[in-house]
Amino acid sequence: MNDWGILYAKSMTLTEIQRALTTLDTKPRQSLGQNFLHDQNLARWIVARLGLHAGDHVVEIGPGLGALTEHLLSEDITVTLIEKDRSMVAWLAERFRDSRVELFHMDALDFDLRNLYGKGPVKIIGNLPYYVSTPLIAKFASALSPASILVLTLQHEVAARLHAQPGTKDFGAMSVCSSRRWNVRYVKKLPASVFFPQPKVSSAVVVFERKAAETIPPCDEIVFESLVRRGFSERRKQLRNLLPEFKERWSSLCADLGLSETVRAEELSLATWEKFTRSVNPVEAQRAEEMFDIVDENDSVLGLRPRKEVHVNNLRHRAVHILITNEKGELFLQKRSIWKDRNPACWDSSAAGHVDTGETYEEAARRELGEEIGIDCPVTKIGRLPCSPETGCEFIEVFQGRHEGPFRLASLEVETGAFFPREQVLAWLQRSPADFSPVFAQCLPFLGGARGDSSRLSGTQISACAPVPVSQAKSGA
Ligand code: SAM
Repeated sequence: MNDWGILYAKSMTLTEIQRALTTLDTKPRQSLGQNFLHDQNLARWIVARLGLHAGDHVVEIGPGLGALTEHLLSEDITVTLIEKDRSMVAWLAERFRDSRVELFHMDALDFDLRNLYGKGPVKIIGNLPYYVSTPLIAKFASALSPASILVLTLQHEVAARLHAQPGTKDFGAMSVCSSRRWNVRYVKKLPASVFFPQPKVSSAVVVFERKAAETIPPCDEIVFESLVRRGFSERRKQLRNLLPEFKERWSSLCADLGLSETVRAEELSLATWEKFTRSVNPVEAQRAEEMFDIVDENDSVLGLRPRKEVHVNNLRHRAVHILITNEKGELFLQKRSIWKDRNPACWDSSAAGHVDTGETYEEAARRELGEEIGIDCPVTKIGRLPCSPETGCEFIEVFQGRHEGPFRLASLEVETGAFFPREQVLAWLQRSPADFSPVFAQCLPFLGGARGDSSRLSGTQISACAPVPVSQAKSGA
């Protein structure tokens, strides 16, 4: 029984949806894309696409009256709900009084993705409000999103564009850019009749699964996306007219890629866009010939050796880690590139790297800050790790600096980066040490002076086990 004196139905049938709306004294709001799913078998089927396992954390965008939510709840699953409509929030808070559920009353576009780190493997689901589905996909499938899978109900036209093939009218920048990091599958077309009220268009369920790192050819993401977006900016124009900076080399570029010189953007497959990006912006492979100083057990220089030899033979050498904090005491973490030979895709110190020959540790720290995250600031040494198998045979000096950003991340070195409250980093590290580079865990304790007083990130969190009366709920936007 709830505060309105009604007993919650087990599932949201059409009758239950209409009764709930009457109880809430509201009507479906077209401006919020409210079309409620009333087919329970379908709701169960959509949730099953997530392939849930014990320990997973599910984020539902726009839960509405909870048609999908009720199928998410099981013993070992935790859930984050993000809903913009105040009446729905009140309903959900009453309906899912459960310590496994966190409810955010806010625009999902303003949701802080950093909230999701340290909660276990993240999976995302939503029957999305169609008016805002494209920016929601861009956000929840972005580099900062920890999700391994997204199961989304979308307007059929958007779904068709996402999985379109080269040479078709639906194939566009969205198809190319989303398939760079995700396998996008169109899994089911849904008739309008499964929703109340019925939308004017049909819908489709689309599944985004993160691609395995080894299947993604390295190329600079910023250059890739800029070329693709500009290439598709005027579909009727030939690519050479949309990318005039390559005029001089156009013939040879096209010959190398096996393309006609009059080619248009929609004729290039993802693989050709990737090759094109690499042709105009060659990826410098991690240089095996890079030279490091090797040192003895007292950190005195013995001589120079190539990078490869240093690593293969476990020769002692030098490295730096730099921890950048902001005014709030939050720590900037970088996620290492998926193409790194060591600890790919792991979260790590703000910047880190080897000391080049002839450099001091401090000079290396300043250089790495510039090269990896595009900043320059004074640094102070806060610790030193002795050379050991745990440091990868490196003597490591740890530095701290202060910077508020913005950062310019080296796209081939760093996947993404963000400031995190220190308590969150500690809890996350404890729960999922494999998410981090092993050396980072040894560097973090040196950061004793950083204030960690911002355990909460932005957004209003309403605990669903102790619902806040809707009149008191603050807007999270
Ligand atoms: N999941 C429910 C279902 O399947 O019945 C409702 C789906 S309905 C298509 C979209 C939901 O998203 C509505 O509950 C609406 O209030 C909510 N919504 C609309 N815009 C939103 C936004 N920007 N952020 C979060 N939720 C939003």
